[in-house]
Amino acid sequence: RASMKKELPERFKDYKNVWVVVEIERGRVHPVSWELMGEGRKLADRLGVQLCAVVLGPKAASTKAAVKQTYHYGADVCYICEDAALTDYRNAPYTEILTDLVNKHKPEILLLGATPLGRDLAGSVATTLGTGLTADSTELRIDDDNSLAATRPTFGGTLLCTIYTLNFRPQMATVRPRVFAMPEADTTRAGRMVWESLRMKEEDIVTKILEFVADNTSSEANLAYADIVVAGGMGLQNEANFRHVKRLAQVLGGDYGCSRPVVQKGWLPAERQIGQTGNTIRPRLYIAAGISGAIQHRVGVEGADLIVAINTDPDAKIFEFAHLGVVADALTVLPALSDAFARR
Ligand code: FAD
Repeated sequence: RASMKKELPERFKDYKNVWVVVEIERGRVHPVSWELMGEGRKLADRLGVQLCAVVLGPKAASTKAAVKQTYHYGADVCYICEDAALTDYRNAPYTEILTDLVNKHKPEILLLGATPLGRDLAGSVATTLGTGLTADSTELRIDDDNSLAATRPTFGGTLLCTIYTLNFRPQMATVRPRVFAMPEADTTRAGRMVWESLRMKEEDIVTKILEFVADNTSSEANLAYADIVVAGGMGLQNEANFRHVKRLAQVLGGDYGCSRPVVQKGWLPAERQIGQTGNTIRPRLYIAAGISGAIQHRVGVEGADLIVAINTDPDAKIFEFAHLGVVADALTVLPALSDAFARR
């Protein structure tokens, strides 16, 4: 890396501040935005610069409420653009306003959630600006020379690689929901609001939204943000046995998930998968039944406060990182736990 590092080109020298793009869908802010604000605050403090938020949406009370919340979660400045063309996410107007803002205010670091919206927007903004983007990061750090080091799993999760955007600005990264903890809101904090406007007119936007159909069947958001998660793996042996996982989750007031082969077998839908290629979870309690604890599963659960593993094999990898282990048949332990908690 040292040999690759050149002097930062002169035109990038006035790039400063850390920015977070706040994701709003139908008036609701995606919690990953606040998780990024918490982490962005740390990066900004380390660099001695400001933390800025970008709020894009229609002229609405919810858009203004989001601005206020950015201050509570640590923003010094919030750039806001209200325009009917920004009501529902479309790539063209969002890319234009964000690239305009970057060219005008020159952030050094630009962060987005690795959500469907964030992935789409970050890719086109990075391409338009001709800068580097580390997608799906799991760790962000400021290096000794003040550059952003973004780490992400690679080679099927067997390696972690750290990526630098050496001689380009801004340094962009998307980060998965739940990788960073939710920061505390300080409702006494206030910041400075800066109004911006969109150049693009509705008639210039080729994508038209004809209808908006909410996906009420998706459990992805609930699972990622559930306080208690019970999951089953191949040790449960068949689809019918997942009733034990669902029942315990229901008795505990939590949600349920599974390992990848369970999805591959068709026993549970893909949005129930936990791990590197599924959901990252950060519950207070995670109960893993009949799951071996492969690295690809581990990276999605290790943010849990308490991990309880039930496995018949005392040498299973999951016991290397579980806080509590039960060496027993999950098909006996799960119903026993459900009955015991149901009686309470
Ligand atoms: P197994 O490895 O088959 O383990 C079953 C476990 O159940 C064993 O430990 C066994 O001892 C135990 N057991 C058996 N019977 C019982 C019983 N009656 N009671 C209790 N325990 C019992 N995996 C994920 O989970 N999420 C991912 O996102 C993911 N992404 C991947 C991405 C890539 C690129 C690759 C290559 C792999 C990925 N995997 C992922 C797969 C991962 O490598 C493992 O194969 C998978 O996690 C194993 O699932 P499992 O633990 O359910 O099954």
